[in-house]
Amino acid sequence: MHKTLLFLIASLFFISSALAYEKSTIKITRSLNYDAQKAHIGYKTVNNIVRIFSWKMDFNKDLRKGDKFILIGNRDATPKAIIYISSRKRIAVFSYTDKHGRLNYYDINGKTLYSSFSRVPLKYKHISSKFQLKRLHPILKTWKPHRAVDYAANKGTPVRAVADGIIKRRKYIGALGNAVYIAHGMNYVTVYAHLSKFARGLRVGSKIKKGKVIAYVGSTGRSTGPHLHYELRYKGKRRNPLTWRLPKQKKVPKSDLKRFQSQAKAILRRL
Ligand SMILES: [Zn+2]
Repeated sequence: MHKTLLFLIASLFFISSALAYEKSTIKITRSLNYDAQKAHIGYKTVNNIVRIFSWKMDFNKDLRKGDKFILIGNRDATPKAIIYISSRKRIAVFSYTDKHGRLNYYDINGKTLYSSFSRVPLKYKHISSKFQLKRLHPILKTWKPHRAVDYAANKGTPVRAVADGIIKRRKYIGALGNAVYIAHGMNYVTVYAHLSKFARGLRVGSKIKKGKVIAYVGSTGRSTGPHLHYELRYKGKRRNPLTWRLPKQKKVPKSDLKRFQSQAKAILRRL
């Protein structure tokens, strides 16, 4: 009985504190930057919005006139909640500070919008060339850096997206042969090259889920035999895919999830 009462009081407290939050809206008329400025929302907040939501949307293509970003609470860099609303969908994230004091944004299920990355995009036979700054090129016979990993595999082996993302390129690109570029959030791009063919229905701009087949191993472009040339780019620089510390999805700990979700629901009800 006492416990129920306490829970009720606690819930009321959270709901009322959620109700007390300030609400600001960015309504898209021209561009996110322009409309944010008009709503007196600073560039730090805008940067945060782009960083968080670019895991789920392409800011160059998906934003439409009339779309809204609603900020709940502090309109500085870290509002309590950020909700994107368009005629097609709604994406809502809520801030949560973990026990190390790190603030991050999580969806209603208590998960970050980014998925964890797989280390390797296919089932391969062996690594035929590692990430190295000096390699004797098998065709050109010159020393060149190889900022990628080559995975030898049978022709036709499925190649999978290492994380959720958006297809940026899907075409024949000189030495790379048939290649696919996937953007994952603001900072990551993965490149898959020498493909024999692309997965059916794969288009530039398509959203792709981690683990989905995007193409098949081949030997197109400058290549001596069937293999996948795989690049991991972070902020435009090619990094070693075998050793780079890859993003890992974060979750609100179970012990805090109920409280987090009731607060989030209270915010959503108020919209
Ligand atoms: Zn290669």
